Amino acid sequence: MTAELLLAKAHYPVTALGPGVRAGIWTQGCTLHCNGCLSRDTWAADPGKAVPVEAVLGWLESLPGPVDGVTISGGEPFQQPEALHALVRGIRAWRESRPDDAVPLDILVYSGYVYSRLSRSTEAREILDMCDAVIAGPYVERLNPEGRHARSGSLLWKGSANQRVVPLSPLGRDRYATPAGKTEQAAGPRMQVSVDEGPEGRRVYYIGIPRRGDMEHLTTTLERAGVRAGDVSWRP
Ligand code: SF4
Repeated sequence: MTAELLLAKAHYPVTALGPGVRAGIWTQGCTLHCNGCLSRDTWAADPGKAVPVEAVLGWLESLPGPVDGVTISGGEPFQQPEALHALVRGIRAWRESRPDDAVPLDILVYSGYVYSRLSRSTEAREILDMCDAVIAGPYVERLNPEGRHARSGSLLWKGSANQRVVPLSPLGRDRYATPAGKTEQAAGPRMQVSVDEGPEGRRVYYIGIPRRGDMEHLTTTLERAGVRAGDVSWRP
């Protein structure tokens, strides 16, 4: 039977969550409830969000432009181990079917679990063995510097300083193990915005790693410009 994934969102191009031009896949459902989480809309394991993994893979294969990597975030991807395993296995198969001269495609996964916990689980280890890098650990708000005080390059693609970037393959080591000299600016924008029209109306999504206070600052700026933010994912 085809595995089903609870999917919050898929987006292309993503340039703020890993190097290069990427496809982003956000899983739905997270029970970790980190204080200050900016993606509270992904917490509920809503069965209405289930899609076949094959459909996500079909979307990836249909992307029009270059894909340097796939970023899987959440929600908590490892709370859906069967679907995550099928997804990562499918991405690897697609990667191997690409022409030899295509830019190598890396698989980066985010998790709110610390790496030592993930690597103790046989199920999670099998998934990690197919990925190129994991950014592991819960979001800790006080370890995310305020936007105006954030030093360039201090956190790169991490949400807070406690999180660990763990390369898992030679490609992962090449792209994720050498932060020295790489600044956040050089690595691409810190945040991007996408607007989706759906059955529930127009929704604006931010993609990337805001620094502490950035979202409140954005809301205030929008309100000053006459745009009401309405329901937002970063407040209870
Ligand atoms: S930061 Fe990530 S792991 Fe933590 S509650 Fe939010 S979605 Fe879950």
